[in-house]
Amino acid sequence: MKRWTVLLLTLTLLAVGCARREVTFVTIGTGGVTGVYYPTGGAISRMINLKYDEYKIKATVESTSGSVFNINGVVSGDLEFGVAQSDRQYQAYNGLAEWSESGGKKNLRSVFAIHPESITLVAAEESGIETIADLRGKRVNLGNPGSGQLQNSRDVLKAAGITEDDISAEYVKAIEAPGLLQDERIDAFFYTVGHPNGNIKEATSGRIKVRIIDLTGAGIDEMVDELPYYARSTIPVEFYPRAANQENIETVGVKATFVTSMNVPENVVYAITREVFEHLEEFKELHPAYQVLTKENMLQGLSAPIHPGALRYYREAGLMAPE
Ligand code: GLU
Repeated sequence: MKRWTVLLLTLTLLAVGCARREVTFVTIGTGGVTGVYYPTGGAISRMINLKYDEYKIKATVESTSGSVFNINGVVSGDLEFGVAQSDRQYQAYNGLAEWSESGGKKNLRSVFAIHPESITLVAAEESGIETIADLRGKRVNLGNPGSGQLQNSRDVLKAAGITEDDISAEYVKAIEAPGLLQDERIDAFFYTVGHPNGNIKEATSGRIKVRIIDLTGAGIDEMVDELPYYARSTIPVEFYPRAANQENIETVGVKATFVTSMNVPENVVYAITREVFEHLEEFKELHPAYQVLTKENMLQGLSAPIHPGALRYYREAGLMAPE
């Protein structure tokens, strides 16, 4: 009798052990909680966690300092997935910007593209900033190290012939910027983000009047022509009814993308890709910035090679030609 009990117990423990080992835990790096990356990571993790019984994948979301942090986390193996701007994906893979010393992060893999993001320059009306050229001598938040926007702000300044010495530059996280602007401790800030979003709503809805600045003229067209990852974009004025703007804002855009590393197993990437694509209509309901998504445009804007797990799904679904 005793022997049987011991045997049964051993078998149960073994079974539990095996079942445990089957579970794959993945972490998705996102951005600040007032941005769009954070809810995006939440939406993706929710889709895969709903199918836990089928895939045995448990996804969790981490709020991070943004694109550059997420790419570095993914390539070092600290994160399995991350959301990152398409321009930053291009730079990381090709060894540019923050990655110029490293010769390129060749184990970076793309999964799919998500919502469009716009370089958004928000300024206090009182500061008199109407164009990029007016940033000279002003207190401007360019973005925190680790964020996607820091390089975008630098590119825009460079296009306008302004150096970081010509302004009083700040490098704080986007989440802090609306408060600093409303407290008149900065005159303007840059944030590369999908629209509408809570951060820009907060910045434009406070005590002082705030305007979203057009990024046109002053070398911007040349910048868009020269750098392959930039395109023209528009922020609809109705998203921010309390901003001083009367018309849509013309600016420059990139795309949010979902990235991983070549070391993440094929079946894990396949499962996540499949769940998001097979439930795209439900996914699109989760944030207004996803409205424009189609299965086709989610395969555009990817510069690192597509992960084999995602490729498998795209071929199966007829979104890509078979090998
Ligand atoms: N584009 C920003 C970055 O790469 C994040 C925007 C967001 O969190 O929605 O850091």
